[in-house]
Amino acid sequence: MKKLINNVSEIYDKIASITSIKNVEVIAATKTVPIEIIKQVIENTMIEIAGENRVQELISKYDNSLTWDFIGQLQTNKVKYIIDKVRLIHSVDREKLLETIDKEANKINKVQRILIQVNTGQEQNKAGLYPSNVLEFAEKVKEYSNVELVGLMAVTPLGLTLQDLQKCFDQAYDIYKQLQNKHKGIKYLSMGMSGDYDQAIKSGANLVRIGRKIFGERV
Ligand SMILES: *Cc1c(COP(=O)(O)O)cnc(C)c1O
Repeated sequence: MKKLINNVSEIYDKIASITSIKNVEVIAATKTVPIEIIKQVIENTMIEIAGENRVQELISKYDNSLTWDFIGQLQTNKVKYIIDKVRLIHSVDREKLLETIDKEANKINKVQRILIQVNTGQEQNKAGLYPSNVLEFAEKVKEYSNVELVGLMAVTPLGLTLQDLQKCFDQAYDIYKQLQNKHKGIKYLSMGMSGDYDQAIKSGANLVRIGRKIFGERV
């Protein structure tokens, strides 16, 4: 556990060298990590949120003393299992999913806060909307009264050069700013993981999802 706590300190030290740590929320990306370890990290560090990317895993680990975000691809038929368990859903990228989240949230009298997922690398067959479709999709969100749009999540392709990665981050930041201009309440830009969170924060991210840098290569 000392090692993990130290890993988290290193992350916050690095963030502090870029900006005030108050400006950035770190989410622990917890796939494959046992709940006991997640709880200890959250109890003993400044991290307050666990981010899961598989429905099955979230259900089996779920502990209502922690705050959970859903960060992975989400199938519509599984929304009902997580709707009462998550603070934010980061990965909304199609209308069918939006519609289902709205319906399930309505059943439990919740307004579910969501982020739109953008595919900045424009990779085919990847989750996320193409950048050119994000603003139009954001307009659609307004039609659903049990869903509230609060930001953008960017997932970047693996193996990019620093320059190409920077282009993706810049593009995501640009879309985020456009969203802010058009919609009230847009406050999260979720981008950056273990390998690039510092670059993401320099590019305007205020929510980073970090797994391996905290928990080691098991993730
Ligand atoms: C696993 C995961 C992360 C964290 O990745 P690391 O490289 O381990 O930091 C972030 N976001 C999503 C959606 C993930 O699935």
